[in-house]
Amino acid sequence: MNLIFFGAPGAGKGTQAIFIAKKFNLYQLSTGDILRNEIKNKTEIGKKIEQIINEGGFVTDSIINDLLKKIITNPSYRNRIIFDGYPRNVQQAENLELMLNADNQSINFIFFLKVNREILEKRILGRIICEKCNKTFNEYLNKKEEIEKHDCGTKYLKKRKDDNEEVLVTRYDEYMKKTKPVLDFYSSRNYFHEIDGTSEIQVITNKIEQILTV
Ligand code: AMP
Repeated sequence: MNLIFFGAPGAGKGTQAIFIAKKFNLYQLSTGDILRNEIKNKTEIGKKIEQIINEGGFVTDSIINDLLKKIITNPSYRNRIIFDGYPRNVQQAENLELMLNADNQSINFIFFLKVNREILEKRILGRIICEKCNKTFNEYLNKKEEIEKHDCGTKYLKKRKDDNEEVLVTRYDEYMKKTKPVLDFYSSRNYFHEIDGTSEIQVITNKIEQILTV
């Protein structure tokens, strides 16, 4: 099965994708992570996109679609993908259908994690991520002791460059302008599920699990 986790920046798509991927043996395809890796590895693509990401804009569809195509058709991942951070505009949504159809695959579930702006801000501005295992913490929401006893050690815990107040404004605007219209594209489908993304992490995971196991 292929899943889409949909929602604004900070809605919890990545956090849920990690749990659900583990439980159902799926592959988490986070376009944000893939792009950040390109930057880290200083590839040609990485050099082109670094500034765009740091300023909160969207990377061009052609770069994204090329990166995605290789993964979608890879026999190790096909039919077991969680799309996290993609599609981010209507053209990408249309292109995803084309790529999946061409490879005899489809989307089986879409989960929209609905979260209000105030909470999104708190999550993004407090977010710290372990560079080693990708686990996410929040300076405001997690207890200090909880963060300090992280298995990989605290030295890998870093803030994302685009997780600051200024860039957040652009990222949220981009979401409202370009990504939200994708909701209209999907919301009438019978495999579209809106989930209250403000609930506790475990409560949301349970809800998603329940839907996936019916
Ligand atoms: P994320 O980790 O999902 O918050 O993505 C971080 C940044 O990567 C975004 O602000 C965009 O600059 C870029 N990005 C991630 N996914 C996409 C996408 N599907 N289309 C365009 N840009 C993307």
